[in-house]
Amino acid sequence: MPEVPFSVILASYCVEYHDRNLCSQCDSEGCPRLADAALTLDKFRAERLERHRLRKGSL
Ligand SMILES: [Zn+2]
Repeated sequence: MPEVPFSVILASYCVEYHDRNLCSQCDSEGCPRLADAALTLDKFRAERLERHRLRKGSL
């Protein structure tokens, strides 16, 4: 099992939720929660990609 930080799990739940629903902080401009979650996921993916790249480079 790859190690996934709890904040990333929460973020992915948040994004999934927003596929179908609005939360209390959603408005016509968008949603700070969703923006936050997207940022968290982006960062996690970028870091994972970087780790993967480094590991491949060392083989
Ligand atoms: Zn929202």
